[in-house]
Order: sequence, then structure tokens, then C-alpha cells
Amino acid sequence: MAKVLLVLYPDPVNGYPTFPKDYARDTVPALTDYPNGQTLPTPEAIDFTPGELLGSVSGELGLRKYLEAAGHELVVISDKDGADSDFDRELVDADVIISQPFWPAYLTPERIETAKNLKIAITAGIGSDHVDLKAANEHGITVAEVTYSNSLAVAEHTVMQVLVLVRDFVRQHQIAVEGGWNIAEAVERSYDLEGMDVGIFAAGRIGRAVIERLAPFGVHLHYTDRFRLPAEYEEKYNLVFHENIEALVKNIDVLTVHAPLTDETAGLLNAELLSTMRRGAYIVNPARGAIADRDAIVNALESGQLAGYAGDVWAPQPAPADHPWRTMPNNAMTTHTSGTSLPAQAKYAAGTREILEDFFAGRALRPEYLIVEGGTYAGTGAHSYAKQAQPAR
Ligand code: NAD
Repeated sequence: MAKVLLVLYPDPVNGYPTFPKDYARDTVPALTDYPNGQTLPTPEAIDFTPGELLGSVSGELGLRKYLEAAGHELVVISDKDGADSDFDRELVDADVIISQPFWPAYLTPERIETAKNLKIAITAGIGSDHVDLKAANEHGITVAEVTYSNSLAVAEHTVMQVLVLVRDFVRQHQIAVEGGWNIAEAVERSYDLEGMDVGIFAAGRIGRAVIERLAPFGVHLHYTDRFRLPAEYEEKYNLVFHENIEALVKNIDVLTVHAPLTDETAGLLNAELLSTMRRGAYIVNPARGAIADRDAIVNALESGQLAGYAGDVWAPQPAPADHPWRTMPNNAMTTHTSGTSLPAQAKYAAGTREILEDFFAGRALRPEYLIVEGGTYAGTGAHSYAKQAQPAR
């Protein structure tokens, strides 16, 4: 019997909704494959209806029936930060910890030290930087995530935020809601995306999906990544490759950010880099908040060096009520929601169950789900997180 510790975001303040009567829609589209042919998660069964709220405490990622039938203990908590949190208390004898990046349970080296039984940390979603991967490696803990589960959801959110910034939607909507009709005021910061240079920082699953979704807008596409994309892909989207982010940002009007948070990417969007961008550039960062220097972004918006900043990721999470990104000028921030739409929750809940089924049966996990295993970076982790990255197979 294993103890599974599941850390989820709190339920809605008005209570957990009843399906389907409290939901906007009765169904979500049924999908089988991702664009690269990878199948959606293939657990033996699921005990939820896709479209239900699964990521909050009462949703339990739909795992309780399965885990208890198999004789395991499931503990679901939300209190994850500060001294004497439920997380600190419960992790000491947990065999499995599951957390979502939207409400990250930070598995620091100190916490890993106290989690003596921990064998696997599963990210229900994508992005395992809330786990100290070096410490996980040192302790032989497997880290796995549900690769691809919400990549396309994030790409949609990215495209939305690019348009929201460039066209200045937030201000225009506010004027409409407030009963105004001063068109001149509403358009004084409104531009067309058409013809702009758009740069993609990291062309992995999300970055490529953004490229493919933005191409029909008639933009000029640029990118950088540790690995150059195949020549035929570059030709198809008329992509300009740049050797590094420094070269990329000088040549673009809009930057979108899709790299994992690592030692190499932390703080990359700093004052110096921002000063080399075209005046009035826009940034959309749905990757990780700590890739950007918090105050440098605020200063660049205040000075007009940046015309807008958006994204859904903050450091730390949840962001404090007085985090300056909530109120800085020309921001279109959301809380961390892009990868936890209701359909995305169904995908990563099913993927979490698939990982658990394989883990408890002693079967190998899908390589694409692996970040670290057996004391080293593996699968997607070897490609996207390791210092010496390996090309994707
Ligand atoms: P991916 O593994 O498919 O792609 C990551 C890409 O980053 C790879 O192509 C890799 O080569 C590149 N890369 C890594 N380090 C780099 C560096 N230093 N310089 C240049 N390129 C680098 O992952 P993905 O599915 O595209 O997701 C990317 C990131 O987006 C995740 O790691 C996560 O942090 C974030 N994410 C956010 C949400 C959200 O809800 N906002 C959801 C999913 C993922």
C-alpha cells in the first residue's frame, strides 16, 4: 500500500460545481492524438467525465476510486506553503506526490530530505521546475509529467494574449463596459498584428503550436531554440532562425516565451536584454514567471520600452496580492490558467492515472513523460531540462 499525496488548488469559493448542471457546456471534444502522432493518455479506465472540474480539491483528479480500490491511501490537500503547512506534514511518509504547476507544491531540497519514502513526483500538467530536479536526481526520485497534455491549450492562450496586447483589447473592453464611446481614446494604442515580426523563444511543443497558429496572421516568424527545427519545417513557415535569444529579440516586435525554467533561463528577460528590443515591443510569457526579471518588466512598461506584457505565470505562485504585475501599465496578465482549461484537466488527469498505473505495476513509464529517473535526466527531461540537452528522438 502506498500513500499518494495530491496537492490541488482550492475549490471555487461558491462550492464545487455539480456536473453538468453548473457548467457552461455538457461536453468537450473527444480527441485521440496530438499533432506529432503521440496518443493522448491511455489509462486502463477513468472515473470522471471529461469537462468536469478535476484540478481543485474536490475534483481529486478523478483518482480516489481507482487508488482506494487498489488498496492505496489518497490524501488531498491544498495548504502547501509556509512553516507547518499540510504539505510539510503529509510529505514525510508519502510514496507519491502529485502537484499541478498552477498551484505548485514546491519540492525543495530540504523537503525532499524529509520525504524519506518518496519514489515519484508527478506533475499533473507540464513543467516540473517546482521540483528541485538536482535533489530528485540525488535521491533517485523519478519525476514525470504529462507531456503534451496542455501544450495546445497554452498555445491558444498565447495567441489570445498576443492579440489582446497588440490590439489593446483590455482597454477597449473596459471603455465598452463603462458606457464610453470615445473611439480615438480606444484606438490610440491599437495596432494590427499583420506584418509584424514575431519571435518564438523555444520551439518545443508549445512554441511550434504557436508558430503554426500565428502563421495565418501574415506575420514574419523568427525563433531560437537549443535545437534547430528541420529545414522543411522552417521553409513551410518561412522561419528565421537566430542563434540565441539576444539575436532574436533585436529583430522582433512580439516575443513569446516557451522554454522551461532552468538555471539557463532563470532571469533571462532582464533589463539589459529588454533594452535591446525595439521600442514598443510586446512580450507574452506563459512559460514560467521567473524567466523574467519582475522589476525589469515593470520598469520597461513604465518607460514605454515595452508596449505590453502578458502571460499567466508568476513567481511565486500564488502571487501575493501586491505583486506589481497585477497593476503595472499595459499588462494583460491572467492567473495561471492557460494549461488548466476543463479539457486540459481531463487530459492531464488521465495522464496522471496512466503514470500511476504503470508505476504501481512496475512497468516503464512512457519516455516522453519522464523528466528524471534513476538519478539522471531522461526522456523529455534529457531534451528540455538537462544542461547537455539531447536532440528529440
Ligand atoms: P517542450 O519540452 O516540448 O519544449 C521545450 C523547448 O525548450 C525544447 O524545444 C527545448 O529545446 C527548449 N529549450 C530548453 N532550454 C532552452 C534554452 N536554454 N534555450 C533555448 N531553448 C531551450 O515543452 P512544452 O510543452 O513546449 O512546454 C514548455 C514550457 O512551457 C514548460 O516547460 C512549462 O514551463 C511551460 N508550460 C506552461 C503551461 C501553463 O499553463 N502556462 C503549461 C504547460 C507548459
